[in-house]
Amino acid sequence: MSDPIPFIDLKTQQLRIREAVEEGFRAVLDSGQYIMGPAVKELESELSRYCGAAHTVSCSSGTDAVWLPLLAWEIGAGDAVFIPSFTFAATAEAVALCGATPVFVDVDRHSFVMDPRSLEQAVEATLREGTLRPRAIIPVDLFGIPAPYGMIRDIAQRHGLKVLADAAQAFGGIYDGARVGTLADATATSFFPAKPLGCYGDGGAIFTDDEETQEKLVSIRIHGRGVGGKYDNIRVGTNARLDTLQAVVLREKLKIFDDELDARQRIASRYSEGLEDGVQVPVVPPNCLSAWAQYTIVVEAGHRDELRAALKEQGVPTNVYYPAPLHTQPPYQAFPVAPDGLPNTEALCHEVLSLPMHPYLKESVQDRIINAVREGLGKLRARRAA
Ligand SMILES: *Cc1c(COP(=O)(O)O)cnc(C)c1O
Repeated sequence: MSDPIPFIDLKTQQLRIREAVEEGFRAVLDSGQYIMGPAVKELESELSRYCGAAHTVSCSSGTDAVWLPLLAWEIGAGDAVFIPSFTFAATAEAVALCGATPVFVDVDRHSFVMDPRSLEQAVEATLREGTLRPRAIIPVDLFGIPAPYGMIRDIAQRHGLKVLADAAQAFGGIYDGARVGTLADATATSFFPAKPLGCYGDGGAIFTDDEETQEKLVSIRIHGRGVGGKYDNIRVGTNARLDTLQAVVLREKLKIFDDELDARQRIASRYSEGLEDGVQVPVVPPNCLSAWAQYTIVVEAGHRDELRAALKEQGVPTNVYYPAPLHTQPPYQAFPVAPDGLPNTEALCHEVLSLPMHPYLKESVQDRIINAVREGLGKLRARRAA
């Protein structure tokens, strides 16, 4: 058997930026400004410039980036927030921690993102039912593919709802010519190491064009501080700051980010060319560019786990994002779902398989992966036919 393949290779990238990061760390150590040092402000300006948002508020994680805007908009008990169930727990967690009610909506079978029809039906059913007040929608740009913001914003406008994009996996993505970060009232992203733009620890950011939201976020990030100094508290906040050291890492990674996005796009296209005649490959809508946090295929039900085991034997690591929908798990079982249920979500959890994806995946290694997938599928189908 040949060498094991990493699912994500962060080491090659580190070699590329290591010297600059060490130099930046040394400057922070010399200055002693570990909290809110100058690199944090500089990073925020650079991120705003990159994505085109008027304001960037950095924070301590992607989870906080989803939670803080809900606090800023005073979403709480009695409020309904519409979210997909086919996502990472943080999306639902942020809503539940505010005391609001997540209402689960189905996703599209091919692009994995929120289905606007299911959303509209869920909003209307909530209004008819009458106990909860619809307040916000949190579309998730799953695997890096931007959600259908045009239709989602229409629905939001018709019902007076805020849109908070959970773009934890999608920084760098594009929808209708605009970057992720400018597509919703506020956009949350994560700098967890494995995300497309990751730091060396936890980190996140919120993007918004709305000045009032920005001012509240800045205050909430530091214990609800007012303008009267350190001990002037004007609202309940929390501690959700990004470390100066992490800002140093992110500034270096942002310099090579476009180059890495191009590589991800090239690798994704190569996967699709090599696999599309045998399996369902990700369908990125024509008006979108994915940030390719994951490259996820859809394998017919009943074959996924066997294919996964066969690939493991060949030294090809895979992951399942996500094996169980949130609405079926104990903390979220009691919350409402869209009127027609979540059939796509429930099916996808048994069918999705994410392949190794990172900007430094060599063509020879990728060919090994493609061949292993094709062979594995061929064997499973031959056995079933026999
Ligand atoms: C990673 C992720 C988060 C949370 O980000 P953290 O930085 O790990 O807190 C939120 N939502 C989605 C969809 C994610 O993938």
